[in-house]
Amino acid sequence: MLTSRPFAFVIFSSHRSQICDECWSRIEVGYGECCVSCGVVRYCDFGCRARAQAEHYTECAHVRRERSASDIMRLVARIWRRLQEDKENLVETDLASGISRGWDELMDNAERLTEAREEELEAEYEQLDWLLDADTVRPDKKTFVSIVGKIITNSFCLRSDRKITIDSLHNILFKSQNLQRKGGPLASEPFGIGLYLLASQLDHSCSPNATVVFQGRELRVMVEKEMGGVGEARISYVNTMLDTRTRQEQLSQHWFFTCQCSLCSDPKSNALKQSVKCSKCSTARPVDTTRWTLDNPCSECENTTDAKQEELVERYRELSLLVHQISGEQVEENTFNYLNSWVAALMGEVCGDKDVTYVRVAHYVHTICMQHRLWKPAIVYGEIVLPAFIYYFGKNSKIVAALLVRLHEAAYYSGLLDKGVKYLEQACSIYKIIPGESHPLVSVDIAKFLM
Ligand SMILES: [Zn+2]
Ligand SMILES: [Zn+2]
Ligand SMILES: [Zn+2]
Ligand SMILES: [Zn+2]
Repeated sequence: MLTSRPFAFVIFSSHRSQICDECWSRIEVGYGECCVSCGVVRYCDFGCRARAQAEHYTECAHVRRERSASDIMRLVARIWRRLQEDKENLVETDLASGISRGWDELMDNAERLTEAREEELEAEYEQLDWLLDADTVRPDKKTFVSIVGKIITNSFCLRSDRKITIDSLHNILFKSQNLQRKGGPLASEPFGIGLYLLASQLDHSCSPNATVVFQGRELRVMVEKEMGGVGEARISYVNTMLDTRTRQEQLSQHWFFTCQCSLCSDPKSNALKQSVKCSKCSTARPVDTTRWTLDNPCSECENTTDAKQEELVERYRELSLLVHQISGEQVEENTFNYLNSWVAALMGEVCGDKDVTYVRVAHYVHTICMQHRLWKPAIVYGEIVLPAFIYYFGKNSKIVAALLVRLHEAAYYSGLLDKGVKYLEQACSIYKIIPGESHPLVSVDIAKFLM
């Protein structure tokens, strides 16, 4: 529905050696070319280095000077130079629809930002002095805050929408520190931040009707169903599986607004996110986690409560606290994995099937089973997670498709070929809509499976 090119971007310092500065592909270990003058930016090969030359030529000296600055300050410096040097070119226009958006139109929430982070901004503003070279004029404080505000409010995390592996999916969804420790670069975790003028007009909803897909540097906004125009498209800035209070907190802290989408204004939407099994019929029953009680009878069998049900709620409370404790603990990776698989098994007896903590732990266990090629339990836990993902993210979401691809893989290696094919077919039918058949995720990565 819309494509947008970056107005400015930075690759995180932590990822510069792994991502090509030109095409944003992941550089295979042992390959890649460095820029010989700055020694900082890297490319896949000579080809990418040559294509990047014109753009990098003016940046190179800056890159060298800014190498130890924070990611956001490097982006501020880049944008400031662009505002100085390229005054005529601060608008992006979509040729197909004629829609355009300029730098000046971006929201910066400057006042609220100053209120919330005054000291931090002051310190960052002082950093600019050594960051910019002697010939560049400094922005005044107000302009500086506005640039930072526009970055915070409008920027996108950059990722590569190729080969979404299950461990990277887990990182995107749940930001597991423990998985990041292991296994080096992950295919689809965010590797930088970028500002896209056209795409920055997309508003938020916790039940979005549009998805963002990256193809190289290009950002594409994809929709499943036709709609009136870009003005109606909504993407989600937060993980929609989080409960309403947490989502609202994140949205107001970072973007300074209160969401009034259908999900936020529906008190029932939270119900199944914390739920326990019914002691009679196993249907999920919402738990009030401030008082650890059940408010309503079972929706299926109308069971109210009995000794067995009370025991389930008590075990639910203990397990919830235990999960919280484990994730805060600095333990060795094997121990962490062992604890999670142990808890996942216990939770299976107690939690409702869409309980988000249970789904998160089950997804983690699925992920480590995939990594260790334990295909059968990988299928068991993947199949526990699948219906919940469909419920929370929609049956045609990329997240569901990525899980289906992994289930296909696990089934294939377990010798369950028919099951595997079925999962792959479901994944393909999602990917053909988003990101679409011409995207290399479908035309190259998935095509390999189908040969
Ligand atoms: Zn490249
Ligand atoms: Zn260079
Ligand atoms: Zn909302
Ligand atoms: Zn029941």
